[in-house]
Amino acid sequence: MTRSMVPSVATEGPVLTELRLEVRAFLAEQIAAGAFVPHVDTWLTRWDRDFTRELGRRGWLGMVIPTEYGGQGRTYLERFVVTEELLVVGAPVAAHWVAERQIGPSLLRYGTEEQKHAFLPGISRGELTFGIGMSEPDSGSDLASVRTRAEQVEGGWRLTGTKVWTSGAHEADAFFALARSAPPDAAHRHDGLSQFIVDLRAPGVTIRPIISMAGDHHFNEVHLDGVFVPDDRVLGELGSGWSQVTSELGFERSGPERVLSTFPLLATAAQAMDDGRLPTDVGLGRHVARVAGLHQMSFAVSTALEAHENADTAAAVVKLLGTTEEGEIADYVDTLTASGWALDEELDTLLHAAILQRPGFTLRGGTNEILRGVIARGLGMR
Ligand SMILES: Cc1cc2nc3c(=O)[nH]c(=O)nc-3n(C[C@H](O)[C@H](O)[C@H](O)COP(=O)(O)OP(=O)(O)OC[C@H]3O[C@@H](n4cnc5c(N)ncnc54)[C@H](O)[C@@H]3O)c2cc1C
Repeated sequence: MTRSMVPSVATEGPVLTELRLEVRAFLAEQIAAGAFVPHVDTWLTRWDRDFTRELGRRGWLGMVIPTEYGGQGRTYLERFVVTEELLVVGAPVAAHWVAERQIGPSLLRYGTEEQKHAFLPGISRGELTFGIGMSEPDSGSDLASVRTRAEQVEGGWRLTGTKVWTSGAHEADAFFALARSAPPDAAHRHDGLSQFIVDLRAPGVTIRPIISMAGDHHFNEVHLDGVFVPDDRVLGELGSGWSQVTSELGFERSGPERVLSTFPLLATAAQAMDDGRLPTDVGLGRHVARVAGLHQMSFAVSTALEAHENADTAAAVVKLLGTTEEGEIADYVDTLTASGWALDEELDTLLHAAILQRPGFTLRGGTNEILRGVIARGLGMR
């Protein structure tokens, strides 16, 4: 039972450590050159196509995509090390995050040869960006209830409906839309769903901003009004959308971004204690220990992916514990200010952003309540 919660973990050998140090040195140079200012939750909030292209040039995108499709043909563990280094310094990685994390692997698993050649090289170069078109105004946790309909027409499909909370849709080139291609069947409500690769510049697509409580524009409502999707842009099998999105969510939930969204805040607070800008506080140790444990667990999930083992339950455990800790880091640094110490501008900016982003941590990619259900099912308890 424990093994399905935390698979065994590989050790980080010299190849991975060398890669880690190479990425770390590059990021230190970038920060010193003013290419970006470290921030929290940057995999959602900092969209920078130039930075993403630079990562592509260095071979740090599409790492698990085979070379025949323009990728790097490297391992999940190498990808883990690169993503972790990007996150711990709060680099601007939102532009490629969704494409690299889940669209590429889904295309590899379900795409046609033509689709793989059409999209994977651009994703690996950091030139092609994607969003996720799953949630709808009345369908979040209960994704099977999506109402966006796909009607078959000559040469393809017409999609009509509304997607919501679509992160980065106003910047992205395309998204995978989950839609109902056949009427619901009360006995098998997961049947009749399909995934479509939708060009977000196509006629009939209207993207409206949703402004977050931090005053930023990251997510959107996307209205699809009879948007034409040709037959060759259906992803996988018609009617198999449910099993496909479930597998896509496996990739979406498993990475170190579910642990490290507020790590730059924790690291800056630790540095401030060291410099005497904040009082030293033993509570810091609790969070450092938790992050260290979660690093091992998240690395174990990547180890399982590399071995082609099912890691869905383990990924849900990491996401549940990791996103909870991300929020608790924000709370912890906030309590330090209650003792009357004034924060400098750097720490104050990070803390303010972390507190405002915090409610989303345990919602996006599946809420904690839903994840507890996934874990219970994975352990055979329901
Ligand atoms: C920052 C952010 C970015 C996002 N980006 C995207 C994106 O790019 N694309 C996309 O498609 N979606 C995106 N989402 C949407 C996200 O996936 C949904 O918010 C999430 O799945 C929850 O759905 P909901 O908001 O409709 O809440 P609901 O499903 O209405 O849930 C409301 C509450 O009820 C609880 N609940 C619901 N069902 C159950 C149950 N069966 N048992 C116990 N409790 C239950 C939930 O846990 C929650 O607390 C994003 C969300 C956030 C916060």
